[in-house]
Amino acid sequence: MTGLADCNNFFVSCERSLDPSLEGIPVVVLSNNDGCAIARSNEAKRLGIKMGQPAFELRSLIASGKLTALSGNHLLYRDISLKVHSIFRRFVPAAIDYSVDESFLDFSGIPDDVLPSIAEGIRRTCLEELRIPVTIGIAATKTLAKICTHSCKHRGEGVGVLTDRKEIESELNGLAINELWGIGRRLTRRLTSEGVYSIGDFYRRPLIWVRSTLGVNGERSWRELHGESCIELNHVDRAIQNSVSESRTFPFDTDSYDYIRARIAIYTADCARKLRAMNGLTRQLTVYLASNRFHTENGYYAPSAGMRFERPTSDTTLLVSTAIECLRGIITPGLGYKRAGVILSDIIPAGPVTPSLFDELPDPADIRRAGTDRKRAEALDKAIDRINRDIGAPRLRLASQLTPGHPGHNDGYSSSFQAPSRR
Ligand SMILES: [Mg+2]
Repeated sequence: MTGLADCNNFFVSCERSLDPSLEGIPVVVLSNNDGCAIARSNEAKRLGIKMGQPAFELRSLIASGKLTALSGNHLLYRDISLKVHSIFRRFVPAAIDYSVDESFLDFSGIPDDVLPSIAEGIRRTCLEELRIPVTIGIAATKTLAKICTHSCKHRGEGVGVLTDRKEIESELNGLAINELWGIGRRLTRRLTSEGVYSIGDFYRRPLIWVRSTLGVNGERSWRELHGESCIELNHVDRAIQNSVSESRTFPFDTDSYDYIRARIAIYTADCARKLRAMNGLTRQLTVYLASNRFHTENGYYAPSAGMRFERPTSDTTLLVSTAIECLRGIITPGLGYKRAGVILSDIIPAGPVTPSLFDELPDPADIRRAGTDRKRAEALDKAIDRINRDIGAPRLRLASQLTPGHPGHNDGYSSSFQAPSRR
């Protein structure tokens, strides 16, 4: 049996754990630069606020006091996320952290009849120690556990078990096909054009049809719905980190855009390498700068900017160009900077299921082409990683990582560039 533990409205719950006055009222957490809603309390959902709804559409609700909007505090969320995941590990032999607020719980070796009470224990502990509400669904496979957690949340239950055949089928009949884990927008369109509207419809199609229509990913989902566990996330057994970051203090204050841009490119490429080494994909990139705390003529300033990826990635080229775009938005000409950094967060395992692979691709020919492009980018990144590992220093890099000016400067990266083994 597998469990899926999922924190309810995670960012909002984190804010409530600090400030109980937010309890019971409509609350949203906004994305970087307060662009749109990225988390909603149940009360905010009931007001009809959508995930990703732009903040300007919420202005009148906020002004009239009907809705409380908060800027995201991602360091807090990360901290609580680590604590939540460590509580999970107190109760089960192994847990796979799937995202910042979700873990698959491995119940192998534990008798089925005690699973609900273990899940209750996890839930109670998270509430008592962290004031974070968690929902746990238990089923034979990861896909069914996800469905179970989903329906528990709808019913307002904390823990659920989904094993009864009839119950599974009636549950699946009530869920639209796009709710199925691993089925993106394009695939949904494909399936609805074939008359498959609910997960139940999909469940009842013969396997041979599923295989020929959707290929191996569809087959996997179908088998999982029928109770056969085949989505393995085991290759990320060593706990996947929630974020990787790289930052340095410069040996001098600098206002050189070219210099800072090259530093950001280097830090980003290094983060991307670490991300690939743990077989992860990131959904969020953040760039930040800071001035010198001791040079106060302009005051202390520490701007930051972030970008979300609809499709999780570990592609160095994409990450570096995104980071440079973020940097352009926050750097002010003429101001000196002393420190810069890059954070990749919201990391998920690069598993067999990549839901958004299908999201933006118009037709099968494009899917194949995008797959090829992606494979090429992956192969390039892998080759660069291997060559640099063999050399023992990151000497093969993107042109954007070349640092202009400031000769003799050493921030820990430059030295490894300058003293490679002879090859
Ligand atoms: Mg959640």
